[in-house]
Amino acid sequence: MVAALVWWSILLFRENEKVWITRQNLIQKEYAILYDTPNFDIVDTPEYLTYQKEYLNQKRMILGETVIFVFVLIIGIYLIYKSYKKELLITENQKNFLLSITHELRSPITSIKLSLETLLKRKPPKEIEENIINNSIEESNRLNSLINNLLLATRISYSYPYHFKTENLYDVIVECVNSMQSCHPECTINFTAEGNSNVHLEIDKQAIISMVSNIIENAVKYGKNQDVDVKFINQKEVVSIHIKDKGPGIPEEEKNKIFNQFYRIGSEETRQEKGTGLGLYIAGKIAKAHKAKIEVNSDLNKGSIFTIRFHKHNV
Ligand code: ADP
Repeated sequence: MVAALVWWSILLFRENEKVWITRQNLIQKEYAILYDTPNFDIVDTPEYLTYQKEYLNQKRMILGETVIFVFVLIIGIYLIYKSYKKELLITENQKNFLLSITHELRSPITSIKLSLETLLKRKPPKEIEENIINNSIEESNRLNSLINNLLLATRISYSYPYHFKTENLYDVIVECVNSMQSCHPECTINFTAEGNSNVHLEIDKQAIISMVSNIIENAVKYGKNQDVDVKFINQKEVVSIHIKDKGPGIPEEEKNKIFNQFYRIGSEETRQEKGTGLGLYIAGKIAKAHKAKIEVNSDLNKGSIFTIRFHKHNV
């Protein structure tokens, strides 16, 4: 396309050149007849100067138009390429999401079904029966939290009805950490605090719990049940919550992408951890609704720190 445009301008240049030469010949002939000299110098004649000006203007116009067309064309091609890449990423994420959601839904259902069939057919001893029931409860809790996350992500993408109320953020975080600890007895979640524990802000408590839980859940999951540190720091202008894990870390180029809907690092075929790519998307949306920011700091193979920062005068 660019080559066709350049070729078209070369042709126009040539046509312009031809017209200019023909005009010079005509002027030459006119003056030769008028003054009866075949080699009359026409360079200073008014006709010559007028046509020369026209010729140069045409030349500039063709050059200008070519540059503008090529520029617009390149921008257009770039924008099409960018939206194509975006579309490709969305399709890839959706494919990953469908693969993971199918797996995530199927595995707890299969496990619960198997447990119930075992209970029915084998009538196991009391102790084993209890184990099977506990396992089924755990699986149904997983299913429940998956469905909750799916519903929340759908609602949060459109118009989620936030219920802002004055709450003590410190108490909300402590409640959230305690609840996460009882969900994950296999992992130690350390909680520490700096500064005054009286931080009353206008927040949606359930949304904040959902945001912090999703980040702690990831810290436990990707840290493979190693200790997780949650630190609450209350400063003059800012309150921050730091969630530190000992997981694989997050590469620099992935730090922004992980907040996109359905985005998961790596491919579904090689990934070991379960998930849907919705947790951080939800967390990011809730943070934005509270005018808070989530920062990610990470040391590859050592761990990550997710920091949620609330500016007191914003909330
Ligand atoms: P998922 O359901 O896959 O955990 P999230 O939206 O919570 O979805 O996270 C998006 C992706 O970000 C994850 O798939 C994972 O690759 C990466 N990630 C999130 N938290 C961590 C963490 N603490 N350590 C390492 N990687 C993480």
